[in-house]
Amino acid sequence: MSPETPNSEYRCGICGRRFYTPDHHILHCGVRHPEAMTKDERDAYREAYVAESAAIRSFRIRALGMLVVLYFGFLFLYVIYAS
Ligand SMILES: [Zn+2]
Repeated sequence: MSPETPNSEYRCGICGRRFYTPDHHILHCGVRHPEAMTKDERDAYREAYVAESAAIRSFRIRALGMLVVLYFGFLFLYVIYAS
């Protein structure tokens, strides 16, 4: 199996889609097939959703910080070298 091929261990039992991690699999099931989930799967989905939300929030803050640094960096470069 090549590194690009998702592990078939995490295959959706309803639509057949494959995933690299169990978190991606449970997030897919929670979004696409919530009616077919058991209580344990729903609990796992909630935990994965909270973790994913925190990761996305962290990424957004870091991306905004990098944009601010780049903006002011280029602004100061322009002020120093173009004037
Ligand atoms: Zn599916």
